[in-house]
Amino acid sequence: MRIVLLGPPGAGKGTQALLITKKYAIPHISTGEILREQVALQSPLGLKVKATLDAGELVTDDLIMAIIKDRLERPDCAKGFLLDGIPRTINQSEMLDVILARAATPLTHVVQITVPQQVIMDRIKSRGVASQGGRSDDSAEVAAHRYQVYLTQTAPLAAFYRDQDCLREVDGVGTVDEVFERVCRVLEGA
Ligand code: ADP
Repeated sequence: MRIVLLGPPGAGKGTQALLITKKYAIPHISTGEILREQVALQSPLGLKVKATLDAGELVTDDLIMAIIKDRLERPDCAKGFLLDGIPRTINQSEMLDVILARAATPLTHVVQITVPQQVIMDRIKSRGVASQGGRSDDSAEVAAHRYQVYLTQTAPLAAFYRDQDCLREVDGVGTVDEVFERVCRVLEGA
């Protein structure tokens, strides 16, 4: 399985990603996590992207694609992978397609977790729910901004993948287990 998981911040994408990668024994590749790790390490990359992350803006496509290309070349990805947090722009989707086509490993599933805008707004307002906590980008204000960035930059990806006939939507409202069951049904092609 070579999966892209899409969905707005606050949709519970990270939680579902963990459950999926555990069940299907594939690596969980979260670009947000990779970047936060670099920030914590204060590596040259981390120092470069910290302000961008804290502001809830996107790092550049070239930078994130270089990171993901390296990551996908690691041997553990031979058995499949789940991408969480990438692609996030149409340009990233196109660049990802090129990388995967060259490796003859196209995506097998694009799953979008759908949550109504009002539900996300409520979660952001009640704060903390929209983020994993303890993050420097998890104030309500930055979370709201990240959601706006999602709407303008990332939401258009649904149409991009729908045009390629590979988008599957899953209702993200419900308990973690309920949503996971819906996701598994889509992944197993039922
Ligand atoms: P969220 O919790 O909103 O889903 P992530 O944990 O996926 O966010 O990412 C956190 C931050 O890392 C983003 O706000 C952005 O600054 C940066 N980032 C992660 N993935 C990407 C990407 N594919 N392109 C650009 N920036 C990214």
